[in-house]
Formats: sequence, structure tokens, C-alpha cells
Amino acid sequence: MNVKLTPEEIDIIVDERIRRIKYEAYLQYSPKWKRIRKLKLLNADYACEKCGYRMFDEIGEYNIDKRKLDVHHKTYERLFNELPDDLMVLCRKCHAEHHQIMQPEYFRIGDPYK
Ligand SMILES: [Zn+2]
Ligand SMILES: [Zn+2]
Repeated sequence: MNVKLTPEEIDIIVDERIRRIKYEAYLQYSPKWKRIRKLKLLNADYACEKCGYRMFDEIGEYNIDKRKLDVHHKTYERLFNELPDDLMVLCRKCHAEHHQIMQPEYFRIGDPYK
């Protein structure tokens, strides 16, 4: 690679990668996130807030097409300390569609679809 990066640009790249790793670890392992996520799903009655698709519970009975529900971040303002209104329950289909239109501001590239 011939592109020479400035120390500032390297800092930005490193910072983004650290944030992404921290975010993914939070979503995957944090008991706190599991609690926040579960509460949001309960409040939304295990239904997609966009199309109304319903899943009976997280690990038990699924609908016929087994589409899962995700808890999407509407804002990353209080990341790692989310309020229920910062989040939105979306089924996989609506979630994918949503991210095609709107890129999350927390990352420059992509989103782990959580
Ligand atoms: Zn949906
Ligand atoms: Zn999302």
C-alpha cells in the first residue's frame, strides 16, 4: 500500500476499529445489554415495530418463517447505557431494509445488524 497516512488519520482508523470491537463485544456478551434488549422486546410485545411481524418469545416458539427480531439502535448517543426510546424492535427483513436506506452514524462502514 502506497498511501501514506498521517498520524491523525491512523488515530481515527484505530479509534473506529476499537469502537467497533467494543460495540460487537457489548452486543454479544454484555449481561447489561441482554437485560436492556430483553426489556425492549417485552415492551414491544415481541413484534416488529415497522411491519408488526410477531415472534412469541426469543428462544421458544418462532413464527412459521422463523424470522428473528433484532433490537436496533435509533441513536448511539447513549451507547452502552441505552434508554428504551433509543432502541427499536425490527424483524430481520425490516432491519436489513432500514440499513440499506440509513447508514448508522456510529460507523463509517456498515453495521453488524444488531
Ligand atoms: Zn418487520
Ligand atoms: Zn440497526
